[in-house]
Amino acid sequence: MSRRRQVYEGKAKILFEGPEPGTLIQYFKDDATAFNNQKKGVITGKGVLNNRISEYFMLRLHEINIPTHFMRRLNMREQLIREVEIIPLEVVIRNVAAGSIATRFGIEEGTQLTRSIVEFYYKDDKLGDPLVTEEHITAFGWATYQEIDEILNLSLRINDFLSGLLVSVGLKLVDFKLEFGRLWEDEEFRIVLADETSPDNCRLWDTKTGERYDKDRFRRDLGKVEEGYQEVARRLGILPESGPRDLRGTDTLQ
Ligand code: UDP
Repeated sequence: MSRRRQVYEGKAKILFEGPEPGTLIQYFKDDATAFNNQKKGVITGKGVLNNRISEYFMLRLHEINIPTHFMRRLNMREQLIREVEIIPLEVVIRNVAAGSIATRFGIEEGTQLTRSIVEFYYKDDKLGDPLVTEEHITAFGWATYQEIDEILNLSLRINDFLSGLLVSVGLKLVDFKLEFGRLWEDEEFRIVLADETSPDNCRLWDTKTGERYDKDRFRRDLGKVEEGYQEVARRLGILPESGPRDLRGTDTLQ
């Protein structure tokens, strides 16, 4: 790991130069942060699980022709991805009121929204990722109206697809965050899904009991944090074969 050139280190992932031009290796850490970095911790095995879960979702999304940066999983903690120009927006899709929208509008957590809501936040930790409108996005040159349209279309398709997939394993997709990038091919580019899709950036509640299996277990000190992530993988049928104990295993195991 140390001999490769590191391109970027984020809160939960590290990016390394990939084997070919235009590729990167995305390494999943066990580090967890919340509340804009004010709360920090380690969730043992989280990186292994998120690598698997995100791979699973990206592959399923490819089956319905959603373009993503994902190429293939390399090992327990790494996947090969295409290098994209990240659009500096966090796109949040909500089906049920929870977290910041519940606080902002004084809505009880768990209230079903009459339709799915898509929100944009400007990706800047120093500013605390402020909520922005299409006016801000286009005026400040972060994306064009055409790109916003494409992002909205893709986000709603992804929401419908993942909501259905998750409900079939007894999980409600309450809300989640996506990031998109521009994938350049010659002189042209297309908008593709980037980053990861995992319990780190989704709210997933049991459809019957309302039990939470996502990062809120860490944010809100609900306990059994690792178990929450494992439960999502278990329901999706993708827990590493030798079971949870394997999650501490070496980084290069296939
Ligand atoms: N989210 C995320 N990264 C962020 C902020 C939010 O992945 O920096 C996800 C979060 O996990 C949840 C959804 O986006 O699934 C909506 O989060 P919300 O705005 O309610 O913020 P929070 O309550 O998590 O601060």
